[in-house]
Amino acid sequence: MALLLVAFFQVNAQTDQQMKSFIDKLMSQMTLEEKIGQLNLPVSSSFIAGEKKDGGLSPLEQRIAKGEIGGLFGMKGAKQIREKQLIAIEKSRLHIPLLFGLDVIHGYETTFPIPLALSTSWNMELIEREARTAATEASIDGINWVFSPMVDICRDARWGRIAEGSGEDPYLGSEIAKALVRGYQGKDNDYSLANTVMACVKHYALYGAAEAGRDYNTVDMSRQRMMNEYMLPYKAACEQGAGSYMASFNEFEGIPATANKYLLDDILRKQWGFKGFIVSDYTGIPEMINHGIGDLKTVSARALDAGIDMDMVSEGFTRTLKQSLSEGKITQAQIDLACRRILEAKYRLGLFKDPYKYCNEARSSKELFSTQNRTISREIADECQVLLKNENNLLPLKKSGRIAVIGPLGDAAGDMPGCWSLTGKANQSVSLYQGLKAAIGANGTVSFAKGSNLVADSLLETKLNGMMGFVIPGMQVAKIHDRKPEDMLKEALDLAKNSDVVIAALGENANMNGEGASRSVPDIPEPQMELLKSLAATGKPVVLVIFTGRPLILSWEDENIPAILNAWFPGSEAGTSIAGILFGDVNPSGKLTTSFPRNAGHLPLFYNHKNTGRPQGDYDKYARFRSNYIDVINAPLYPFGYGLSYTKFDYGDISLSKQEMPMNGNVTAKITVTNSGSRDGKEIIQLYIHDVYSSSTRPVKELKAFRKISLKAGESSDVSFVLTAEDLKYYDHDLAYVCEPGDFEIMIGANSRDVKKAILTLK
Ligand code: BGC
Repeated sequence: MALLLVAFFQVNAQTDQQMKSFIDKLMSQMTLEEKIGQLNLPVSSSFIAGEKKDGGLSPLEQRIAKGEIGGLFGMKGAKQIREKQLIAIEKSRLHIPLLFGLDVIHGYETTFPIPLALSTSWNMELIEREARTAATEASIDGINWVFSPMVDICRDARWGRIAEGSGEDPYLGSEIAKALVRGYQGKDNDYSLANTVMACVKHYALYGAAEAGRDYNTVDMSRQRMMNEYMLPYKAACEQGAGSYMASFNEFEGIPATANKYLLDDILRKQWGFKGFIVSDYTGIPEMINHGIGDLKTVSARALDAGIDMDMVSEGFTRTLKQSLSEGKITQAQIDLACRRILEAKYRLGLFKDPYKYCNEARSSKELFSTQNRTISREIADECQVLLKNENNLLPLKKSGRIAVIGPLGDAAGDMPGCWSLTGKANQSVSLYQGLKAAIGANGTVSFAKGSNLVADSLLETKLNGMMGFVIPGMQVAKIHDRKPEDMLKEALDLAKNSDVVIAALGENANMNGEGASRSVPDIPEPQMELLKSLAATGKPVVLVIFTGRPLILSWEDENIPAILNAWFPGSEAGTSIAGILFGDVNPSGKLTTSFPRNAGHLPLFYNHKNTGRPQGDYDKYARFRSNYIDVINAPLYPFGYGLSYTKFDYGDISLSKQEMPMNGNVTAKITVTNSGSRDGKEIIQLYIHDVYSSSTRPVKELKAFRKISLKAGESSDVSFVLTAEDLKYYDHDLAYVCEPGDFEIMIGANSRDVKKAILTLK
């Protein structure tokens, strides 16, 4: 029967015209309720709690059968997804398949470094491979739609969700957005293939600019700033062909994004030509009641009117659209359009042809969390850690002697995937302690002591050990604060004293960043700092390995600890990969994609700031009536683009193929980079520009190109970048995308601080 019904809807044709006729025919049979049903995306309760069934169909299943649901999200598992799809196909009147969406943010069962870490690889091939592998795992298990990539630019380490994005730079963010969309949807955006899924670009728009870094907070800025500094990654993902977008929780210009016609319709659809559908974020629609722009009926109608096609979770559409239609607040054409967009996505996914093609139980038991995928995870993690300091080449360590791993993150396998990894096999990840032990084998000893609690407040630590930062009644939470701090410290110091080197594993756990985890002071929490200071006081060499989802304030650490590796959250193979770096099997090559603040008052902090009328050099001491602080210099502790290697790269001077460039011409900027150290290594060469005079003020530096290359010890390479007028464009005061004749500084270097300069004149 199912096959017959599927055959009934079998669609062989691929063209848009054929899709249109198919959907026209289908929609001509749909009732208003069925159309509104397509716009409805409930969360599947079974993911969290297990669904209650009353003999036959559960309440959710009954709704599927009635055609009240267009898709489900939050479900995991080919078997249960198949069951739900079967109900849609066999029991609903028009047999329309469901979408199955999920937060596949940085991996599925195999987890990869958190997105912020991934961005520090600056390696687009690697980033695409991460998304490809995640999509392959998720699609085997029934998922056809992933709520990723998250492309929100963020300049404020207080915001917990900085962990989920690609940092502070719009150009790099755009390249990464494209790589991730390619990885999920495939190079040709043919997401009808069994191993490609539809991407969902989020959170549109400007979510990362929340005031004071407080999650969900208000966003307001000029449209010019928005276009130049925040919108490029959303636009790039659209150009890459992303199939769907998710509206953000924040408001912009006094209108929540979920009802913001300017953002959703004028820019995304009309200016950029986006043809897919837009889903609200979770309870984004009813949250507009709190924003204060109307009751559920009003806000639901406003969301639809602004361009939202699918309502996640809230049932605002199912409860109110019919009435709004009868009152003339919305039109039938608007409902039809939204419904069409959802059906088009299902068509493009090939679900009308084979609604079960993503549910492959036989394969899921073998191919999820496979050795092969874990190897890929490790390879990726190897390029996603940033060496911040390495005084007197303390690193790499010898694979011998007595090594002490000390700190609450030292043997925390479950935290290694980081935030947003609900489907990951967290507890089967490799902790740092395990990774080091395996790497050293019989050549030395590795011992572990926890040394301190994660945070001083025991209630807070209980929550941070729960699920996404909260504790569900009955949930088992790891024992915490069950030992006296002084006992833990003594044990750690005894161990340190009997070791040759101490590796302090400190920072945040997985729940201290991500959604709803803003921190007013993003630092290493107090009990861990006390531990670190005591370890430093032993006089033993201390290597600090930091686990974090955000740039932390590391001023004391930088002054007092000889070697610092920022490991972020590296994913399933965390410990294996970190051990490889600490022992020098892998030469670190990651570079920061966010500026690291010196203190909390530094925030927001970003390299591509404006000059002001009274600029003060980043490293200059305080001067009255200049744009600076009395108590701290302007420069970040570690700048954007910064990261050390075990080898050394020297940069020559920039040579430009010509000093002047006509509007329709191009210029090649060349620089020689030499690996002057004794190890092979990878270097990320960065090109920045500065528009000297322009009709609007421009940033002191803007990244415009980069290249990651491998150089053998002693080897040199000429690295060339071809620049055209396109690279010099920006959105002017009238939001026209222009390039203005005049001088441009062209800067090339190893990070945003250390650059060589040349002047190019655009004629
Ligand atoms: C988050 C989104 C996520 C959604 C569904 C929301 O709270 O903001 O990023 O995709 O939940 O889980």
